[in-house]
Amino acid sequence: MNSDHQIVDSLQKEQTISLEDFRFLLETQDKELIEYLAACARKTTTAIYDNHVYIRGLIEFTNICKNDCFYCGIRKSNANAQRYRLTKDNILACCKTGYALGFRTFVLQGGEDAYFTDTLVCDIVSSIKKQHPDCAITLSIGEKTRESYQKYFNAGADRYLLRHETASEAHYQLLHPAELSFKNRMRCLRDLKDIGYQTGCGFMVGSPHQTLETLYEDIQFIQQFHPEMVGIGPFIPHKDTPFAEKSAGTLEQTLRLLSIIRLVHPHVLLPATTALGTIHPQGREMGILHGANVVMPNLSPTQVREKYMLYNNKISTGVESAERLDDLKHRMESIGYQVVVMRGDYK
Ligand code: SAH
Repeated sequence: MNSDHQIVDSLQKEQTISLEDFRFLLETQDKELIEYLAACARKTTTAIYDNHVYIRGLIEFTNICKNDCFYCGIRKSNANAQRYRLTKDNILACCKTGYALGFRTFVLQGGEDAYFTDTLVCDIVSSIKKQHPDCAITLSIGEKTRESYQKYFNAGADRYLLRHETASEAHYQLLHPAELSFKNRMRCLRDLKDIGYQTGCGFMVGSPHQTLETLYEDIQFIQQFHPEMVGIGPFIPHKDTPFAEKSAGTLEQTLRLLSIIRLVHPHVLLPATTALGTIHPQGREMGILHGANVVMPNLSPTQVREKYMLYNNKISTGVESAERLDDLKHRMESIGYQVVVMRGDYK
């Protein structure tokens, strides 16, 4: 037996890892050990969630944003972005289509667009709930006041995704303009959890200025915050952003981090993200094989999909599109997993 297995065994048993072991697992070239890490993560996932893959219908309902995050293709300064927003009726139609396909969670994601007032967001949430009472609604619309989060929750929103982006305050400021603060991002996450949302944080792998130490802080943050969901995917540059010339995060690092996150937080709902699918045609399957248990196919109307361009070449029409759910099911079956028609709540 490989003596380095004990690093993974101890991670699995203690659900924690030292900086030294973390560095070792991210840097090792030992194929057998890398596969062992993935196998332990898979086993941990299936012990809790069986071989089930939860699906979420992703509706990207506006790409209008008041923020100017350096990495993001829909930042306000990008004059090349063709802006759009969906109407309430468009969104309800997406949900109807999605419901018929078997989706029982809808994720409403967008830029921070003032057109969507609290009243309108609540109206959309409660209308979806009325038409589909057996479905969960996830919001991912950025930083709001506690009062706003409470209103959406009262209207029926179940979950909220707000990636922390990085657990290092200094790194956070290198990814965002001065008007965005780490403290407010953290305040938002605490409020969301306090209110009772199933809350998701997360980060990009290989974002500019990220280091092994900041990544380790991300892992520690996940251990402390204990979110119900964690979204990670490779950073991919967007041509019209200040980070256009930066290099992308890698498949390998993302997969290893998925496995490590699974082992430090066994119950977490962990998606194999669109960004992972974008850097490799089998990224989604590989994510599942490294401990992920969620995929989020795109349910937005096809004509707007290419406008929600967070990064170069973001995929939206292949197997990640909700209409091609059968392909996704077959792909998951081919690796021994089953796409299920369920809300897929945190266990
Ligand atoms: N406005 C919402 C939704 C943001 S888009 C919010 O603030 O939460 C969702 C996620 O996409 C972001 O949190 C970010 O981590 C990721 N993202 C943005 N630009 C990206 C890029 N260039 N490469 C990879 N992921 C990116």
